[in-house]
Amino acid sequence: MTRMNKVYLKPGKTKALANQHPWVFSGAVQRVEGSPQNGEVVEICTEKGEFLAVGAYSPFSQIRLRVWSFKKEKIDAAFLQERIHQAIERRKIQYADSTDTAFRLIHGESDLLPGLIVDQYAQTLVVQILSSGIAYFRQEVLDILKEESGVNNIYERSDVEVRLLEGLPKFAGLVSGEVPAEVIIQEDRFRYIVEAAAGQKTGFYVDQRDNRKLVGEYCAGKTVLNCFSFTGGFSVYASGNGASAVVSVDSSQTAMELAKRNFALKGLDKDAAEWIVGDAFQVLRNFREAGRTFDVVILDPPKFAATAAQVKRAARGYKDINWLGFKLLNPGGVLVSFSCSGGVSEALFQKIVADAALDAGVQAVIERKLSQGRDHPVNLNFPEGAYLKGLVCRVL
Ligand code: SAH
Repeated sequence: MTRMNKVYLKPGKTKALANQHPWVFSGAVQRVEGSPQNGEVVEICTEKGEFLAVGAYSPFSQIRLRVWSFKKEKIDAAFLQERIHQAIERRKIQYADSTDTAFRLIHGESDLLPGLIVDQYAQTLVVQILSSGIAYFRQEVLDILKEESGVNNIYERSDVEVRLLEGLPKFAGLVSGEVPAEVIIQEDRFRYIVEAAAGQKTGFYVDQRDNRKLVGEYCAGKTVLNCFSFTGGFSVYASGNGASAVVSVDSSQTAMELAKRNFALKGLDKDAAEWIVGDAFQVLRNFREAGRTFDVVILDPPKFAATAAQVKRAARGYKDINWLGFKLLNPGGVLVSFSCSGGVSEALFQKIVADAALDAGVQAVIERKLSQGRDHPVNLNFPEGAYLKGLVCRVL
């Protein structure tokens, strides 16, 4: 057996690993022994050569190492199979009583598989490989996923910018079986059409499952404005729960068409609802000028800040849209506001929403704090995994 490549960390740069955080940044690396390829397994040790962890080496990325294990063990197909098996088992336990057919099966670092995202949509898997460590074992991972999930139809959606940081080309394509253009999934009492191959992200925002159900309960008999509605996730629940009016706003015409078809799937009257393709910021401004108001306003914008550097601009965007949201609420109305920007902390988000209320001249209380569903768990050693936060605010 060839000797494993070793990466020595600088003195004083081992604290993150001691806390079992799975990342080592480039600045912590003192030297590399051997010549590991992109994604290859290396031993991580102190400057004196004491063992710390086994990880994947990523020479192009600022995240230079991602830990596979804090034990000295072989990283091979059997190791990966065990990790993938355990992740899927956890979902089986979590959703034992559910009739839902869409889940996040693997949530990267939080499932101890850094850089691997797998969503299941009925009999289709959509896989995202975001780290060179996973890319190094790509074929093994795909084979294991098939075996462990019992699903043969796999589409890869590794067509995202972060791949370039890892020295990996963007890629999207069918890797196994057959993936129809549209897959129908079940979530709670509703069905949705998912475009696994062409859609945004990996096709559907499963992370909002619990929140859609909860927010739906606020909508009975109410007028509801759903901004950034995508394929109508929240709109379907609102209408299905007896909202008196549902207005959906999204900039994507394709998403809007799917949203209407999702209404039809449940026998909801799409013609009784309002569908506006446009920029939510502008549409809300227009509503404000027209004096139009609602009982429930839902704001689920796309990621405004991917990195800490973009936080300032993102904060302005959140403040603006939340200010508009508050302005459009009837007395006693409810603002449901989300942020999926990893760079915006829960505390900062709450501050932004508070500032927006202040500027809008309203008093409001937080009735609930929301986060991502349990198939998107957050490893305690990897708080970065908590990206989705939401506030249900009632205007007094
Ligand atoms: N709430 C949705 C997911 C929203 S994803 C669900 O439950 O499924 C964010 C959406 O915002 C996308 O559909 C995207 O097309 C839309 N979007 C992005 N920028 C926008 C803008 N400026 N105005 C309106 N919609 C926008």
